[in-house]
Amino acid sequence: MTARAEIIWTTLLFIAGVLTIGFIFFTLFPGKVPATVWEYFTPAEVEKARHYQQIMRMTSILAFLSKVVILVLLLYSTRANVWAEKIFHLVGGRYYLALLVYFVFIWFILKAVDLPFNFYGSYIVQHQWEFSTQTLMSWWSDYLKGSVLDIVLSGIGVTLLFWATGRWPHMWWTMASLFLTVWLIISTFLWPLIIAPLFNRFEPINEGPIKTMVTKLADRAGLQVNEILVMDASSRTTKANAYFTGLGMTKRIVLYDNLLSDYSIEEVEAVVAHEMAHWRQGHIARGLIWGVLANFLVLALLHMVLRLTFTYEIARPGPYPIQLLVAILLFTQLVFFIAQPIQNRISRNYEIEADRVALELTGNPDAVIQLHVNLTKKNLGDVAPPAYIEWLTYSHPSPISRIEAVKEWKDLHKGAKK
Ligand SMILES: [Zn+2]
Repeated sequence: MTARAEIIWTTLLFIAGVLTIGFIFFTLFPGKVPATVWEYFTPAEVEKARHYQQIMRMTSILAFLSKVVILVLLLYSTRANVWAEKIFHLVGGRYYLALLVYFVFIWFILKAVDLPFNFYGSYIVQHQWEFSTQTLMSWWSDYLKGSVLDIVLSGIGVTLLFWATGRWPHMWWTMASLFLTVWLIISTFLWPLIIAPLFNRFEPINEGPIKTMVTKLADRAGLQVNEILVMDASSRTTKANAYFTGLGMTKRIVLYDNLLSDYSIEEVEAVVAHEMAHWRQGHIARGLIWGVLANFLVLALLHMVLRLTFTYEIARPGPYPIQLLVAILLFTQLVFFIAQPIQNRISRNYEIEADRVALELTGNPDAVIQLHVNLTKKNLGDVAPPAYIEWLTYSHPSPISRIEAVKEWKDLHKGAKK
């Protein structure tokens, strides 16, 4: 490793380390919530949700840390190189076969490290807190399906990436960004058609008051919304939710079945209006553009880091040596962790915009407040997370700031009427 490469890796690890220490600190010592919270929540409710969130936050940060530690150990010891050479000889020097075997090997190590945290966070804790309705068999079935998808798609991605380094030694990162852009668009389009149905069942919404409400809202929003689907979320969790997904012809709003059964029609209307606002404001397409830009930047940076770290190894003709895989994986883990505040800030801005547009659509601020209070109570959300945690990890504004924004809107409109 050159001195400049040392500086870059140390800087990346240092920034991720500082962010992690901050995250752990504010997870353990979340401080006080603002007084406005007591208008809607009791201290016992806030305490309970904070305890639950503390467990979930610690689980997620420990999972991240353990993967980074493994990759750092592999990169800084000679182990990554020794294993790569062994595999290369074992398969008779066939480059792409060696790459795939090496990839699968590293993938299994990372997966094994992650499994206890994943199982604890998404099965054990979910049962202890009485959210999960999933059997152990069903959990494993989801886990295996997800893992197969991951290993196949990542395997293809890794093969293409290394192939590009041989084909375009200086410009592979631009070509790789192009591939990734095409893939991002295709996968956003196909996800609701192919991937989502592997895990859940989706049914069109039944005739009745909810369908009438949805049609009225769509008219008001000026949208051609024909895909409002209900997902069998209750087969896994008691937590209610909704989302907007797809691209072009596959655009759809998905409502959890437990949202329809556990919440009032006014609250469901507030949710649907919020998702329609994402639709009308083109948030998925706008998010995609950010994603494309980010991929381009990250790959350019990766190119630079690899050139400085493995100057001699990559100077040889042909695709990059396979042991670079560990450095690439560590780099992506660190960069996406460090880039979280930017990504989440963009996402939170979309959410604020969707909340505002949704209010214009329904004109029913009280239902939105009721919805946020109920969702936060039932899902044990942190009504007012520490500002640092929100800045780093929240893709949505905190419930209390969403409630405050609705109150502001309400006051403003009262004033306008007078
Ligand atoms: Zn949203």
